[in-house]
Amino acid sequence: MTARRIDGKAIADDIRAEVAAGVAALRRDRGITPGLSTVLVGDNPASHKYVSMKRKMSAEVGIESYHNELPATASQAEVLELVRSLGADPKIHGILVQLPLPDQVDEKTILAAVPLTKDVNGFHPLNIGGLAMKGHDPEFVPCTPNGVIELLDRSGTEISGAEAVVLGRSNIVGMPAALLLVKCNATVTICHSRTKDLKEVCKRADILVAAIGRARFVTADMIKPGAAIIDVGTNVIDDPTRKSGKRLVGDVDFEAAREVAGAITPVPGGVGPMTIAMLLVNTLRAATKAAG
Ligand code: NAP
Repeated sequence: MTARRIDGKAIADDIRAEVAAGVAALRRDRGITPGLSTVLVGDNPASHKYVSMKRKMSAEVGIESYHNELPATASQAEVLELVRSLGADPKIHGILVQLPLPDQVDEKTILAAVPLTKDVNGFHPLNIGGLAMKGHDPEFVPCTPNGVIELLDRSGTEISGAEAVVLGRSNIVGMPAALLLVKCNATVTICHSRTKDLKEVCKRADILVAAIGRARFVTADMIKPGAAIIDVGTNVIDDPTRKSGKRLVGDVDFEAAREVAGAITPVPGGVGPMTIAMLLVNTLRAATKAAG
């Protein structure tokens, strides 16, 4: 069997076109342009790259982007003051604090200072609480896990009743992805670095979400025939055949896995484009809610 390739780039393109239409309608009907403010602290090259992509894609769908940069030496009080001032600014509907923050700045304190109504990353504890509690809904769903669900939905994978295994339990990917899958009525197992018999657990999965940050960790013998595989991992490995000498791979051994799986996302071109698309969805939602 060769698995169907779930094309995250094409699905993200569709979602961004839907957001662009929503932004145009909000401007036409209510005179409101959604505003997204990015906050970048320090000189992490990957963070700079991610933020500039988010700003470019915002502009493409008509979202106004406001960028704020602080040096790597910025104090916690300075970052907090910036986030609070953005929180009070009515033209800004979404605030995105790019992680990681420098060591002297406490991530928890900063993320909790983002007003719930502008938490387009969905990392506020109340948003995660809303995901976890029955009868509650979060204001915003974290972007990468939300992208995972959209990929499954839009590629025609049945989630309800499926046995899902999530590899990884981080606050930003693994845990919210697992909570979302439960909300969609999957039966979910969360695996982490202390999980025993990982291979056997993974082999039960109709849906396997890999988010551990280990290059090609998931091998073909860990996959149930016909399973849907969503590979969140982004790992840079050496590749002397490339001009750069480097290559991006996921947490799944793609070439081997596609011979067993029913559907699979590539890296790059799978979850990555979805993360930004879902950020734009959240920003439009924030502006729409602010418009009443
Ligand atoms: P993280 O915070 O480092 O969490 C990794 C998780 O994987 C932890 O729960 C850890 O378990 C678990 N783990 C690590 N090694 C393991 C092993 N050998 N067996 C089983 N579990 C293991 O990582 P993250 O932020 O969630 O990111 C995960 C991956 O997704 C990374 O490659 C990251 O670059 C990528 N990512 C991609 C996007 C995107 O847009 N495409 C967005 C975010 C992240 P413990 O909890 O026990 O330590």
